Amino acid sequence: LELYATPVRGRDGGVRGYLFVFRDRSEEERVDEMKNEFISIVSHELRTPLASVLGFVEILLNREVAPDKRKRYLQTIYDEANRLSTLINDFLDLQRMESGQQVYHYEPVEWNALVREVAEQWKGRPTHEIRLHVPGDSLVVRGDPDRLRQLLHNVISNAVKYSPGADRVDLYLEREGDHAVLRVQDYGLGIPEEAKDKMFTKFYRVDNTDRRQIGGTGLGLAICKEIAEAHDGSLRFESEMGAGTTFFLDLPLYREEGVGGSLVIL
Ligand code: ADP
Repeated sequence: LELYATPVRGRDGGVRGYLFVFRDRSEEERVDEMKNEFISIVSHELRTPLASVLGFVEILLNREVAPDKRKRYLQTIYDEANRLSTLINDFLDLQRMESGQQVYHYEPVEWNALVREVAEQWKGRPTHEIRLHVPGDSLVVRGDPDRLRQLLHNVISNAVKYSPGADRVDLYLEREGDHAVLRVQDYGLGIPEEAKDKMFTKFYRVDNTDRRQIGGTGLGLAICKEIAEAHDGSLRFESEMGAGTTFFLDLPLYREEGVGGSLVIL
């Protein structure tokens, strides 16, 4: 908050009073912070993939390249452009969520069905089987289906990505009182002790030799936490190095007519 005081004088030049002006600078400061953050991201995170795209395109335009090499270069260009696109989308999503500008469209969501739908995206992929353990009766939560899909997709992707030696990920969905708890359990690299309190910090990535080759932006879990909290839920994890990681997503069950209403269990 800034304060300006100006004396108000009468015709005789004597001070009659003061005019006080209070100016709230928090909005301007927020915009400044966003700009600084964006500039630092552009310089670190965007330039590298863009340089690689430009470099390979230049080679393809100016030289004769054998077909197999050509294919490899195009794949690299595609991967790097994809990385850029994910980074920009994730960054903008997170910015919108953090600044309270994300609009959530809440409705009753059949949680079992949505979990199943997202898990099925991994069907037919060679490395991991996603095993579903869901209850017979369906659990209904109050949620924005698109955002819940985004959250699930991120957490399951991580479970697959960070368990290169494993062949499955288990999803357990259970009702606990008036909550639905989803556990996403992997048998992968695990999370080192010193990283545990930074996992939901944006741009944070665990920097271990065992995962240096695995691509990512460090924005996924920050987005997931924003989404969970916007749903009055929570996201946390337990992990042991070398044994694996379990993420727990806790969401309140949908109630008819607000908090006092009865729970809907189909
Ligand atoms: P990204 O995967 O893009 O790096 P995230 O925000 O999704 O970013 O995750 C942050 C970091 O947390 C990752 O770099 C990774 O090292 C670690 N991590 C996330 N999920 C898991 C998991 N299931 N097992 C082990 N490490 C994980």
